[in-house]
Amino acid sequence: MIFKCRNCGGNVVYSPEKQKMFCPYCESVESEELQRSPDGNIRICPDCGGEIPLKEHTAATQCPYCSNYLILDERVEGEYLPGKMIPFKLGKETCKKVLRDKFEKSLFAPTDFLSEVRLNSMQGTYVPFWLYDYDVNAIYEAEGTKVRSWVSGNMSYTETSYYEVRRNIDIGFHDIPVDASVEMPDDVMDLMEPYDYMQMIDFEPRYMSGFYAEKYNMDSEQLKSRANQKMMEDTRALVQAQVSGYSSVRQLRNDIRVKCAGQTYGLLPVWKYLYRYNNQEYPFYVNGQTGKIVGTVPISAGKVWIYTGTLWACLTTILAGLTLCAQLFL
Ligand SMILES: [Zn+2]
Ligand SMILES: [Zn+2]
Repeated sequence: MIFKCRNCGGNVVYSPEKQKMFCPYCESVESEELQRSPDGNIRICPDCGGEIPLKEHTAATQCPYCSNYLILDERVEGEYLPGKMIPFKLGKETCKKVLRDKFEKSLFAPTDFLSEVRLNSMQGTYVPFWLYDYDVNAIYEAEGTKVRSWVSGNMSYTETSYYEVRRNIDIGFHDIPVDASVEMPDDVMDLMEPYDYMQMIDFEPRYMSGFYAEKYNMDSEQLKSRANQKMMEDTRALVQAQVSGYSSVRQLRNDIRVKCAGQTYGLLPVWKYLYRYNNQEYPFYVNGQTGKIVGTVPISAGKVWIYTGTLWACLTTILAGLTLCAQLFL
């Protein structure tokens, strides 16, 4: 499918800066109409009839002949229909500014690293994700002690009090993200976190117009164990945070039970900047919602400097979205 302008027939794209659909040819806003491929052949551009070279998992791309942005119907429908998405908040111009502000005064990068021509090659891509939800119950039991010592006259006393520690905690995890793209390195996506999942909306194809996209290429069952692991680690940490103030704790029981689990297929925005230097590729990524940068910059001297933004522990993301209700027994 393609979004065409009702006024001039140009290709209408989603403008993150305007937060609206925008026709770059006649500058109309919200003038789009959806046009589907006439014969359903996703390899043929519905506008110019050119044959589009497609990668196995491409869901949206730019026609190399007419430069229009196309969305491949059958890769955003049926089993590949995303439930949710975060539309791009940063357009290409804003993204260039983010990179320039960050690196302009740095002396390490080759001179053309921030050149207009190079930066224009940046591509906005929607990366496929599975977002997992869990309702969990944790029961924790332990024997805790509190020790008090004091001196009276020439006698010293030690008093040890024993406590039966019981915690019964219900935790709801929402949208634990795991990227579902083979192409996208897992460590990069982990570093791109956090996204603000409060801004997630129901999927609408028009937000894809003007960008690239990939459909999921790893299914939710394949990736479940990664989300499970995050959930278990965070549950244990949350339970531990509820047990404090004792001199010693002897754990008797620590049961974590998943009461209910589910997942949603979603798309998250990433700007990719592939910089080539001395026959080497240096991929650079910017979170399309927050502007957080992750990448490796070449140094002119031939060395490589690893740049990442602050590494946010996974817990931070999850804490933002969880509801915690605890019943405490002492
Ligand atoms: Zn127009
Ligand atoms: Zn075309």
